[in-house]
Formats: sequence, structure tokens, C-alpha cells
Amino acid sequence: SSINLFSQNSTKTNLIPMNNKNIVENKIDSLLSIMTLKEKIGQLVLYNGSWDVTGPPSDVGNKEKYEKLKNGEVGAMLNVTSVSGARELQSLVMDHSRLKIPLLFGYDVIHGFKTIFPIPLGESASWDIEAIEKSSSIAAKEATASGINWAFGPMVDISRDARWGRIMEGAGEDPFLGSKIAVARIQGFQGNDLSDNKTLAACAKHFAAYGFAEGGRDYNTVSIGEYELYNTVLPPFKATAKAGVATMMSAFNEVDGIPATGHKKLQREILKKDWNWDGFIVSDWASIAEMIYHGYAKDKIHAAERAIIAGNDMDMEGRAYEAGLEKLVKEGKVDEKLIDDAVKRILKVKLDLGLFDDPFKYCDETREKKDIYTKENLEFSRNVAKKSIVLLKNDKDILPLKKDIQSIAVIGPLADDKDTPIGSWRGMATANSAVSLLEGIKAKVDKNVKVSHAQGVKLGKDERNFIKELAINREDTSGITEAVDIAKSAGLVVLAIGEEAFQSGEARSQADIELTIPQQKLFEAIYEVNKNIVVVLMNGRPMAITHVAEKAPAIVEAWHLGSESGNAIADVLFGDYNPSGKLPVSFPRSVGQVPIYYNAKNTGRPSNPEGLVFWSHYTDEKNEPLFPFGHGLSYTTFDYKDLKISSSSFSSGGNINVSITVTNTGKRKGKEVVQLYIRDLIGSLTRPVKELKGFELIELEPGKSKTVSFIINEETIQFYTVNRKWEAEPGEFKVFIGGSSNTLLETGFSFEK
Ligand code: BGC
Repeated sequence: SSINLFSQNSTKTNLIPMNNKNIVENKIDSLLSIMTLKEKIGQLVLYNGSWDVTGPPSDVGNKEKYEKLKNGEVGAMLNVTSVSGARELQSLVMDHSRLKIPLLFGYDVIHGFKTIFPIPLGESASWDIEAIEKSSSIAAKEATASGINWAFGPMVDISRDARWGRIMEGAGEDPFLGSKIAVARIQGFQGNDLSDNKTLAACAKHFAAYGFAEGGRDYNTVSIGEYELYNTVLPPFKATAKAGVATMMSAFNEVDGIPATGHKKLQREILKKDWNWDGFIVSDWASIAEMIYHGYAKDKIHAAERAIIAGNDMDMEGRAYEAGLEKLVKEGKVDEKLIDDAVKRILKVKLDLGLFDDPFKYCDETREKKDIYTKENLEFSRNVAKKSIVLLKNDKDILPLKKDIQSIAVIGPLADDKDTPIGSWRGMATANSAVSLLEGIKAKVDKNVKVSHAQGVKLGKDERNFIKELAINREDTSGITEAVDIAKSAGLVVLAIGEEAFQSGEARSQADIELTIPQQKLFEAIYEVNKNIVVVLMNGRPMAITHVAEKAPAIVEAWHLGSESGNAIADVLFGDYNPSGKLPVSFPRSVGQVPIYYNAKNTGRPSNPEGLVFWSHYTDEKNEPLFPFGHGLSYTTFDYKDLKISSSSFSSGGNINVSITVTNTGKRKGKEVVQLYIRDLIGSLTRPVKELKGFELIELEPGKSKTVSFIINEETIQFYTVNRKWEAEPGEFKVFIGGSSNTLLETGFSFEK
């Protein structure tokens, strides 16, 4: 018989004050007390709604799933991306199941839903926390208008490995910047009130250390040490836990011998106990069952046992919890209390979202028609896209271009590509819906400017396919002659090269991160006939473009910028927007340097003052990156002076103030990211040569100055020490301030306990 515990329609009969913790807990407890074990396990099950992992796209009406939904044996669905789909499935639960516990609808909202923003790595280059929050909130608004109430994002994995395809999904290599951006994205998704139907539950992923896959090969083994884990990998997760992220996702990889999904120390101890976080953990796709392949579980039942004991609450398409938990509880191998705890965490998110008051609150056909892909959202996409562009090089001020330039040749495989800028993890974007660079340039220049175009070389051999391996063109250079012809007669060449959308993303690791040979040949051939080349790089990872970078007078890093890509790039090329982006990740000179990152440690042989052979170096490559973390030029120049520190020491409870005066010494208004780094000279553990500890995005009119100050206190210098706790150690510290991790003024202080 069916018990009508909660209202099923939008009449708010069961509205509970969310700020009253006791009422929420009582409500959850009373529901839990009448749930059967089967119903409880059902809440831990997350099914895919659009296609089956074993076969081609199948109907959501997959018979077995339908029956389970009706029986109340499913807690959440993913990849159901329309109001009609969500309504249909939610109705199955509401009309047939005994307890009518509403479903969550999850989806990978990574950089937009239908209006696409820059890939997360690119957007992170804006260092513009407000803009980043806003793009997430727009994405949430579009997704929730389509029936979705749970985003599988943001990805907060730190990565220092350009080979790893998923580096495009994160905020780069730095835990401080990564934490700020992670929190901004959570805030954008979740807003201030989860029960608002324009916000959704966020999911920080992948817990943990997914970005440290050996060899940069996706899903591969991770074997970093405890201190690195705490100091580099965990901070963004901790920040999102503190910011109240509703859910987290465990990772596919193992961490030092234990698959993350079955990792008790990580999930149950660190996340749930030490950080006192009350959200729920969802596995990654089938990652519970994958513990069988890891050699950590003998079958699905064993995998279920290990995962639930380790603290993983929900099983995404692994079919392990449904296969094993009932049996395991009955046999006494799993304490039912663990299941209760998981269920409570999941119910809490459903309650916070307000789904018990109205399970159909995200099923609004009117909003689905009017809130998605709006003019306003596209405008914002252009806005954040231009902020994400990084001017890597601009010799002889070849940029910005004049709008009445006589002729311009727009060349390259990506010049008129309307699809690549949408990038990987593109949500519900329509294929080929981005503004291409060629379109952006044509829309920008005066009418009488001659704009010619040639593709030069192709990037891919045939059509891309996410499942099959990408077929990259590594030989065909037949289009170069035509490209050279138009380059010869043009005043200037804009050359769009790099990587296509699906060269990065999940399962898109690469051993080669250089430009393809045909693209390199294209560059060389054009450079022979016309040295006025502006390279526009589009890519999902840092690329080793050393040979091109040495010759090309100007390089514009344009990532995969989303729906308005071509317009945003043209805004920068022609100076309507003065570039302000800074790299959130180091660009290697060659793949052999990877992993390469600015916040590295010194070795015992960091340099060779006496010309020694035996120092830490390569015999065939420099130690320095091609472009360092924090680097990015502007059309104006900034001068840093008057670095002041309020005191040369402070102690526990106290703080000091560091300030710098930044002046716009050029002729245009511009933005600058003022960066503060600290070095802890001697520690109980070896310490990085510098670590970002503050930044501020400022805007200055020409000739104007601004004094920027930062507070340094005990928290600023804390790290996970040899004592296995976060603490500040007494000693000497250096402070650096500048516009990049390698151009810095220096001062120092000491700290006493
Ligand atoms: C990815 C996750 C994603 C999930 C659902 C997995 O393959 O690793 O990041 O959220 O699929 O699409």
C-alpha cells in the first residue's frame, strides 16, 4: 500500500524551514524508519537514462529500469536532459512507488549546458572569480530549466600533466587558485539557496588524485605520497566541503594501492569525519564494479562491500549495490547503519533541493523554452571568453590589429571550425554552433578589408567519434600550397592551429602534445613568405609549441572558448578588449619535461654555478617551461614598485600587510592580475620554491596607479606538516609579488609561534 508522506505536486504543503536542522533530521529519520532495506538500497542506485554502456543509445524506457523506478528501487538518474524525460521518470516514482521519494537528475554540466562557456581550464585563465561564478550560475539556470537538479561538476582535480586529456576540465596546476575557482563554481551552481529551482546541487570531483595518473594516461595508477596528497590534491576538495558542496564523486584511479572508490581513509575518515562534511559521495561511472579489474574485489558483491564500508554512498551504473548490499546486510558483513547513513545523506540533498515539496519543480516547460540559449547568456559567454584569452607573446606590438587593415589571411585547420571551440564535455550544445574565428573576424573588420581564407591542412582524417579513437591527420599537407598563395599577398596572417575538441577530455590522453607535423609544416611554409603571423592557438591542454613560439611574433591562447569563440577572439585581436588572462598552468617546451609546474621543490642540485655536469637538468632541454604559470601579456604595460611590508615578523594570532603599487605605464586601459607568492625557506618537510597565496584582478586607466595589499597571517603559511596536521611552522619566509610567477619583486618576514 502506498503511504503519502510528502506532497506530490507543487502545493507547498510540506514546506519545512531549511535552517532548522532538527526538523530536517527528524523528517529524514521518520522517513528512514519506515523504509525497507530494499527501498534504502534503491536510494543508493544511480541509473543512466539515455544510453546503455554496453550498447547503442537505448530508450529511457529500458524495461528493467522502468520496473525498478516504479518499485522505488532507484535514487537518481543521469543523462535525462529534457523536461519531458524528467517528468516521465519522476511520475513513475510518484505514481507507483510506495514512498514516493523523488529522483535526482544528474548531468555533466561542465562549461555550460546549451550556451557554452570556455572550457574550465580556459575560463580559469581569466582569474575572474565573479565571472566564473556567473557562468556556472547561468549553466545551472539552463540545466534546471531542462529537468536537471544535480550537476556533476566542478572537476577540481589539480593536474600538472599536459598529457592528461582531462586537464581541460580543471583549473590547472595550483591548489590555491584551484580552490578559489572551485568554490566560485560551487557557489554559481548552488547559489545561496538550494531550494531555488534555478540552482542545483553541485558535485566536486574526482575524489581524489585523479589528475595524478601515471604517464598522464587516463584512469591510470596514482601513487603520490601522503604529504603531496594533503598539500596539493586535497585543498580544493576541502574548500568545496567547507563551502557546502552537496555531493562529491569518487575517482576511477587507485591511490597508493587502494582504488579511490573503495578508499576508506579518503572517504570515511578524511572527508566525512575530519572535515565533518555531510553531503553524499557518488561513485564514478561503474567505479565500484571496476574494483574487480583493479584486483581489489572478486565480484560485484565483494566490490559493494568494500565501497560501502569505505564510505561511497551512491553507485553510478555499477550495478554492484543492487547486486550485493541486501545479501551483505543479511549475512552480517555490512552493518545496516552504514546504509542508513548513506540514505540519510542522499535524502538530505533531496530535501534541501525542495524535491519533497515539489518533485516536479524542475519540470517547467515554459522555462525550458525561454531560459536556454538566450541572447543574454550568449552575451555573457562572449564576455567571459574574451577574459579567458591569454596573450602569450606580442613582439613589436603586432597586436592589436587595425580594423582598416588592408588585407588579412585567416588560415589554418581551426580558422573556420565552428565545432572545435565548443570543446569537450559540451553538454547539450548543437554541433557546429560556435562562432568561428573567420566569422568573428569578418564581423569585426571594416567592409572594404580583404579577408581571405584557406584551411591549409586538416586536423582530423575523418569524422570525429567519441567512442572510436580519433583519427588525426599526420601526413596530408596537400592544402599548404593554396594557403601559402593567399598568405603571400596578405598584409597579415592569422593562423588558427592547435587541437580539435575531442583531442582532450575523458579518455583523451596524448603522448604527443606538440602541433601535428602537417600544422608545423603549414606554419613554416607561411612563415617563409610572410613573417606577419599572429598564431591563434585553440587547445584543451598546454601544448609544447616551442618551435612556433620561437618564430611567431604574436601568439594568442584561445583554448576552446565556447559558443562565442570567434567573436571573443576578434574582440582581442582588434583591441576592443585588452587581454587580461594569465596561464593557470605551465606550458612545457617539450613533453619530456612533464610534469612541469611552478610550485615545485628544489633538489639538492638545483643549478650549476660552477658549470657542473651533475646537476638536475636535461642534456637536451631547458628546465624552464615555455610559458610559466601566471604569465599573460596586455596591450598596455604595468610597472610594479614600492613593495612594502608592515613588519618583518609576526606571531600566532597576528598578521602583516604586504603592499605593492602597480602603475599602468602604457597607453590603454587594462586589467592585471597582481599575484602574491610565498616561500617557506626551511620546513619540517621540504617546501615548494614558491606558492601562490593571493591575487587581485585590478583595472587601471593609463597613467594611473593602485596600491594593492595582502594580509599574511598564520593561515596563509599553514601546510600539512610532518606532524600530520595543518599548522604554521616558525621560520623565515620570502614574499614575491608580480604579474607572473617568474617576474617578481621580493621581500621577506619571519614567523614565530
Ligand atoms: C566521468 C565523470 C562523469 C561521469 C558521468 C565518467 O566517465 O569520469 O566525470 O561525471 O562519467 O557522465
